[in-house]
Amino acid sequence: MSRRPDKIVMATSNPGKIREIPRMLEGLGIEIVAQSEFGVSDADETGTTFAENSLIKAQHAADATDLPAIADDSGLAVDALDGAPGVYSARYADGAGDEANNDKLLAALEGVKDRGAAFHCVATFVAPGDVPLVAAGEWRGTILHQRQGDGGFGYDPLFFVPECGCSSAELPPVEKNARSHRGQALRKLVELLEQKYA
Ligand code: IMP
Repeated sequence: MSRRPDKIVMATSNPGKIREIPRMLEGLGIEIVAQSEFGVSDADETGTTFAENSLIKAQHAADATDLPAIADDSGLAVDALDGAPGVYSARYADGAGDEANNDKLLAALEGVKDRGAAFHCVATFVAPGDVPLVAAGEWRGTILHQRQGDGGFGYDPLFFVPECGCSSAELPPVEKNARSHRGQALRKLVELLEQKYA
């Protein structure tokens, strides 16, 4: 049986994720510290899948701090765009940021009837010298014709959640976390961690 860690490093510098992830890991009762607190910057996301990039990020933070680390890699896959922007969601508009990403998505879907899409997330836990733990989540919705709401981050203002009748940017954080791809993946990861450190 492994010893329960006192701290887990959160391998992201995305402010939206820094707001969401610690809430989802609250139940663990382990201190969650952003990688920036250790002077660690983002890893290069050289993978071509969410799983690869998630492992790259968690391994990078664990190697740099010699502490256990959690990363997620996530993105939006749009049916009519053959799964784009996918793993390139953060960089869809060549690094110009969330607003430009949303503008580019609206332009790409102009006149397109099929608005189906899904957020995907793969969450990975890496403890130095140990086998990684991995969990995934998927959240289906549709892409709106214009932005709605100002909560969340990224593509949330364009992501309509049919079962709620609003965009994910209009959901209170607790409700978004209860349904989202990231919430699903991290809840599964917490279960794996509870088993590992029981
Ligand atoms: P990553 O940091 O490489 O995982 O990039 C994730 C990108 O996917 C974000 O920058 C957003 O553009 C998008 N994304 C992932 N999760 C969400 C979400 O919960 N809401 C809105 N956009 C998201």
